[in-house]
Amino acid sequence: MIPLAMPNLGEKEKEYLVNCIDTTYVSSVGEYVTRLENMCAEACGSKYSVAVSAGTTGLHAALTAAGVGRDELVIIPTFTFIASANAVAHCGAIPWLMDIGADWCLNADIVEKGLREDCRFDGEKLVHIQSGRRIAALMPVYTLGNIPDMRSFRKLSDEFHLPLIADAACAIGATYNGEKIGGLADLSVVSFNGNKTITCGGGGMIFGNDEVLMKRVRHLTTTARVNAEYEFDMVGFNYRMTNIQAAVGCAQMERLDEFISTKRKVREYYNNSFKDIEGIKLFPETEGSSCWFSGIILDKAEGLEDVRSICSSLKEKGIEARSFWKPVHMQKPYENAPVKLDGTAEGIWDHIITLPCSTCISAEELETVAGNVREILNKRH
Ligand SMILES: *Cc1c(COP(=O)(O)O)cnc(C)c1O
Repeated sequence: MIPLAMPNLGEKEKEYLVNCIDTTYVSSVGEYVTRLENMCAEACGSKYSVAVSAGTTGLHAALTAAGVGRDELVIIPTFTFIASANAVAHCGAIPWLMDIGADWCLNADIVEKGLREDCRFDGEKLVHIQSGRRIAALMPVYTLGNIPDMRSFRKLSDEFHLPLIADAACAIGATYNGEKIGGLADLSVVSFNGNKTITCGGGGMIFGNDEVLMKRVRHLTTTARVNAEYEFDMVGFNYRMTNIQAAVGCAQMERLDEFISTKRKVREYYNNSFKDIEGIKLFPETEGSSCWFSGIILDKAEGLEDVRSICSSLKEKGIEARSFWKPVHMQKPYENAPVKLDGTAEGIWDHIITLPCSTCISAEELETVAGNVREILNKRH
């Protein structure tokens, strides 16, 4: 079976892991945690970084540090992995789900319309008129490693006094106008889950340039301990990354450039292989995208049926292919969340097929995937 996205692990990961055991530094203190934080800050171009147990917990901590509280609203795209919405819900807040643009990221025009038309300032407080809830933060998602119109989001966040948090879970290694992504938002969070470009088994990293804010992030993620005598000053979280996770992460980060280059080559290979096939479109790609996942979009699909049938034909050939994110507003826990939609997410999500794109995929495997996809799609017409 050629898997969709599997970890690319080598001797270095093994060596660093053995070192954790040999030194007994297996838990939340250890040289690898600090090393990984430094490597990531350097790679993503931010002053500060805090390692955490997952992308989801990192988002929860970032939103909490930014002041998101109970019954408030956080603007996020409806087209995202459910964890973006869950992180908002873990704060006791509610996602305000908005639609995406052609880059599959939060649409800045829709956000601006929402802020101008559906909200008003009540003193310092920006309020959603219909629900009376405070808007607490703006959280774009770097879908597939595509970076959306962050210049507009920065302007809106300044004008409306909204903390700008980036769900950069799948965007490590991406750039925006040639710039590294660690400073584009007030806080940015990447994930090191097993299917991401860089993995720690599980884990995440929070980036930022504001010293006070990042100190609060560190404090919150490490149980808000004030001193060694079991004194605490807030309800904190145990969201630390372990040295074992970080050991794997350090070995992975040494190969970041190679991994990103491979992800982009996979995308280019599929784009070249499929560009002449009728009835499909290629994945959107912003300049400097980290191209986390690759695949195709069916121009016409009858719900998920076509996606399912193509995926099962590929499975018979030993190729794992899958559908992609179902919009958050169509998910049971969020069916009552406020929305601002124009049909874009609903129009595409069940037309998408993701194809094998591991950084350890071989040239022969790519050929096998492309050949079979071409054959199946041509038969469809
Ligand atoms: C993977 C992912 C997350 C969650 O990260 P975990 O480390 O799995 O908790 C959140 N948002 C997006 C967009 C993701 O792709």
